[in-house]
Amino acid sequence: MKKKHSCLFTLLFILVFVIQSITPTAAADNGPAFTTAYARTVLRASVGLATADGETLRSYDLDANRILTPADARIALRCAVGLDSYTPPTDEGFAAATSAIADVSAHIYTYEELEEDLATLSRLMPSRFTYSSLATTADGRNIYCAVLGSGFANKQIIVDAGIHGSEYLNPAAVMSAIEYCLRNYDAKVYDGKTVREILRDTDIYVFPMFNPDGIAISQFGLDGIRSSAIRENIQTIYKTQRNAGNTYDSFDTYLKVWKSNARGVDLNRNFMIEKDGKPYYSGLSSPANELYAGAYPFSEPETQAYKTVVERASDPVAVLSIHSQGKLIYWDCEQNSEGKQAAKRLAYIVEDETGYYLDMSDSFVGASADWTMIEKNIPSVTVECGRGHNPLPLAQQAEIEKAIRTLFLAVAAAY
Ligand SMILES: [Zn+2]
Repeated sequence: MKKKHSCLFTLLFILVFVIQSITPTAAADNGPAFTTAYARTVLRASVGLATADGETLRSYDLDANRILTPADARIALRCAVGLDSYTPPTDEGFAAATSAIADVSAHIYTYEELEEDLATLSRLMPSRFTYSSLATTADGRNIYCAVLGSGFANKQIIVDAGIHGSEYLNPAAVMSAIEYCLRNYDAKVYDGKTVREILRDTDIYVFPMFNPDGIAISQFGLDGIRSSAIRENIQTIYKTQRNAGNTYDSFDTYLKVWKSNARGVDLNRNFMIEKDGKPYYSGLSSPANELYAGAYPFSEPETQAYKTVVERASDPVAVLSIHSQGKLIYWDCEQNSEGKQAAKRLAYIVEDETGYYLDMSDSFVGASADWTMIEKNIPSVTVECGRGHNPLPLAQQAEIEKAIRTLFLAVAAAY
């Protein structure tokens, strides 16, 4: 028995010796020096236990997908022990792997594209990006909440985008900004810190497309809606509002500028329906393409999903509500003076990052950021991206992405 053990140890010793003495083949043509020590270094870097300069980190990305993960260490290890030989990616392969997942080129970014991007990003980087559907809309779409970060941080930032149907450029921009953070997780992209360092204590909770039904209506008109009952109801809503003299738009235009969900509730008026104990009138008393607040606060699955996330977060430190248009930041929602100070501080950070201007008027409309600020005491601002009239020209999608690319990191670094 004893003899058998010592034999095994000898074998093991020889194996380790052989593995460690494997020397690289021509590094210039065939990638880096593959040893188990090298594989270990790549593994440590991929999980944030070791840092290196950007060039070195890039060289660890053996599958050349611009994302350093344990999968790269696995390639190195298999090559080091002779199970594989390393084939550097071809130029075409590299181009395919590095092309953006979240596409902000001038095109209509649909709910289906969002679903695909969420799935791809979380498959590539499960330890730093996850998502789930929290509820279903009237027309059967999922209300997704994604988490950028480990999901185990002790603070949270909460972001909503696409709450208004006609503001459908923002979901693409937000997803692309998330992708930027994920791909540069171990690069020092903000204030001399890596994304991983910034997100160590803070998870970013993002509703990338808060109102997918409303977005489908604005993008495709009635064709965007799957349920015939909802299509009929939308026609009734239009006739009612037109007969009441609340709109003079053609049906097509009415749908194009649609902000509400498919039930005709303006979700960004559905969070609070009273202010200081008095009912707050949002502008319309029945379903419409905008401004109708709903029968009661949180009457809609979309707003309920948001409420659940805010109330379950252990320590939500800031709220960003991403809208269009005007390149403005709303921060004064008639909150108390302490709240005003807190929101203004956040607004200045957003101003620094985006180059947008602080709006100096005070307004309460029962929006998500009003509710989180007034009822939950979380510093909250509304960011109005882009310029023009909603829906904004698609060409602005990339410009908006640039404006908000490191916004979440800036806020996380400050709180
Ligand atoms: Zn809006």
